[in-house]
Amino acid sequence: MNDNHPIKFGPFIVPASLAATVIVPGDVSYARVKSTYMRGGSPGIVFQVKKRDEIVEALAFARSHADLPLAVRSGGHGISGRSTNDGGIVIDLSRINRIEVLDASTRRVHIEPGARWMDVATALAPYGWALSSGDYGGVGVGGLATAGGIGWLSREHGLTIDHLRAVEMVLADGSVVRASDEENVNLFWAVRGAGANFGIVTSFEFEVDEVGPIGWAQLVFDASDTAGFLEKWGAIIEAAPRDLTSFLFMGPPRGGRPAVAQVMAVVDSDKPDIIINRIQPIADISPMYDQQVVVTSYAQIMANAQEGDHNGQGEPTVRSGLIEHITPEFAAAVARLIRSGVVYVLQIRAVGGAVSDVDPDATAYGNRTANFAVTAFGVSRERMNALWDEISVHFKGLYLSFETDLRPERLNDAFPSRTIERLRELKSSYDPNNVFRDNFNIAPQALIN
Ligand SMILES: Cc1cc2nc3c(=O)[nH]c(=O)nc-3n(C[C@H](O)[C@H](O)[C@H](O)COP(=O)(O)OP(=O)(O)OC[C@H]3O[C@@H](n4cnc5c(N)ncnc54)[C@H](O)[C@@H]3O)c2cc1C
Repeated sequence: MNDNHPIKFGPFIVPASLAATVIVPGDVSYARVKSTYMRGGSPGIVFQVKKRDEIVEALAFARSHADLPLAVRSGGHGISGRSTNDGGIVIDLSRINRIEVLDASTRRVHIEPGARWMDVATALAPYGWALSSGDYGGVGVGGLATAGGIGWLSREHGLTIDHLRAVEMVLADGSVVRASDEENVNLFWAVRGAGANFGIVTSFEFEVDEVGPIGWAQLVFDASDTAGFLEKWGAIIEAAPRDLTSFLFMGPPRGGRPAVAQVMAVVDSDKPDIIINRIQPIADISPMYDQQVVVTSYAQIMANAQEGDHNGQGEPTVRSGLIEHITPEFAAAVARLIRSGVVYVLQIRAVGGAVSDVDPDATAYGNRTANFAVTAFGVSRERMNALWDEISVHFKGLYLSFETDLRPERLNDAFPSRTIERLRELKSSYDPNNVFRDNFNIAPQALIN
């Protein structure tokens, strides 16, 4: 008797070898996997895989249902929300989440896609190491490490993808390959910025940094003069030594109170005089409502996520752009945007520094001259797009991890023209049938013509 006799799950016939991974509508656990952090979904079938062979098989199933959407999910925190869908297939990698030191002398670490960045930070802490990844510990490794990774140590140590030394991936045809600077070099280039279009990364090999105790500041300011505040903060960050990385969050003024700005900053030092030296210029920008400056660990900063299942609802509206300098014109435009009532949170993350040291052609993440990544969360897609289209004259590039606009122009914002051309050529050879198409699709040339 054939051990892999197919089994029926609702409208789907699934090989027996995948049966234990299947979650379909009506199952008790369906509510736990249908949606993501940002977006509600109702997939037809979820494969919650636990090993690489199951990924290969689930992908074969997806290829044989090419008419259905296919979502790949690691931590489920994708802002575009494309790691779920309605009626389609989800390959959920959250259970493939091992973190293992490969070689302590070279700080080489093997990390699987379903691990969360807070777990990575905790695992590396005993060695005195860290891998700059993002500001939220609940975010998964798979989505962030295939797109970029703007984190608390970006100005000093670069993007997460800049620490990537090799990946193992399942390609569209089901083959399993390793890509690095020695093998499948074009694929390795593409994965670092456009990974979602090229396959399912099953393991990442990183070279991580030595990071000891660090300074951590959380400051809340009066930002009534919103434009003036932004301009001053931007100038201070750009002029600061690279051991300072700072992010700024701002919302609209509420209940007749003045606008406030929350500034977070990491100083990679445990020396109080250095920490104060870096933070004081920020503290002097405007009167403060609250402040906390402590010496802590990177792992402590990243331990900021809630446990629990994702229950995102509806469609998120988030727009984004990369900018070189916070000019008076841009700061004034942002102040108007915040007053419009359409944006409920505006975030600016410092990049530049070590991120800009990397040759823009070295990875598919090519917009390396920006000093800031700007993101706005809004309430109405139509109104948000109209306002953002106006403000986008100031931008020089886009980081797709903070974008929900699916209009095709966004690809040209996200990738320099020579980068997108090379990506299309590679897509034609690695994924000619466009199996991986659901998250900012770089379609193969033949399917465009
Ligand atoms: C609260 C919050 C804070 C954030 N802060 C930051 C930040 O500070 N810096 C920053 O850079 N980003 C930040 N992000 C954005 C985040 O990096 C991206 O949303 C990232 O894609 C999430 O990864 P994930 O695995 O959790 O997401 P998922 O939703 O699981 O995946 C997102 C997409 O990535 C692709 N993908 C996932 N896994 C794989 C894989 N194994 N192989 C190939 N493709 C894959 C798929 O296309 C999928 O749709 C933040 C997001 C949230 C929600």
